[in-house]
Amino acid sequence: MTETSSSQIRVAIVTGGTRGIGLAISKRLAADGFDLLITYRGDTRVAQAAEAELRGLDTGRRIEVIAADVSNVSGAEETIATAMQFFGRIDALVNNAGITRDGLIIRMSEQDWDEVVDTNLKGAFLATKAAIRPMLRQRTGRIVNLTSVVGLTGNSGQANYSAAKAGLIGLTRSISKEVGSRGITVNAVAPGYIDTRLTNVLPDDLKRELIASTPVGRIGQPEDIAGAVSFLISPDASFITGHVLSVDGGLSMTS
Ligand code: NDP
Repeated sequence: MTETSSSQIRVAIVTGGTRGIGLAISKRLAADGFDLLITYRGDTRVAQAAEAELRGLDTGRRIEVIAADVSNVSGAEETIATAMQFFGRIDALVNNAGITRDGLIIRMSEQDWDEVVDTNLKGAFLATKAAIRPMLRQRTGRIVNLTSVVGLTGNSGQANYSAAKAGLIGLTRSISKEVGSRGITVNAVAPGYIDTRLTNVLPDDLKRELIASTPVGRIGQPEDIAGAVSFLISPDASFITGHVLSVDGGLSMTS
């Protein structure tokens, strides 16, 4: 455990940080020395397990977990206001919360479209909008958006999700241009096929197909993504903004 003086303490928010990729990012950022606010939507049992796991890491960092639905204004604003109340500053915002509601366009309901776009795209917009003011005041900040390989390539059966993830890339690049001169960077990470609850539901033949299409020949682990997010938040990445970093074992080249 490294000692950190209060003047060095940095604060990160991870939306959807209670399982899968978000939990791996949270663990990594806690190890990197961040105090953390982690959010989730509704699975309290999983959230309590994540909180216990993170506190058990004994990094010496403060960990706070709250239920806040990022897809609506009140949830997104509550997320940022709570972080400011607990910690008084926000150094990094990781817009990780995401859901899928897959189906071919001919059968896709308006509700499936809205839920996916509201969570994956509007949620990132709302959280960023609320976080940008304190970051502008600090004249420093890091925002990382979790897009997807399918935001780059498109995917049959995922028109809603691919559109939301492609939209996140436009959001990332646009905001990076607005706030770059104020010490704030905005980047995206585009995971390939990663082993989480989101992908556990895929049919086995599709899972085999995805691994066969991945040049490194394996499924990705949440920690593969956490390392990339940690880098984009680190001082080493201060000259990188508006970038989309594919962390997909090469899948986007073959899709
Ligand atoms: P999981 O389904 O494992 O975890 C999703 C997390 O997001 C949970 O903590 C969940 O909370 C939370 N969440 C969902 N909706 C909301 C909401 N409206 N407000 C706040 N929190 C919410 O997902 P993954 O770890 O697999 O994915 C993380 C991110 O990475 C997503 O953006 C996903 O699209 C992206 N991604 C994942 C890939 C993969 O292969 N797994 C590939 C490419 C991108 P709760 O448990 O309460 O529901």
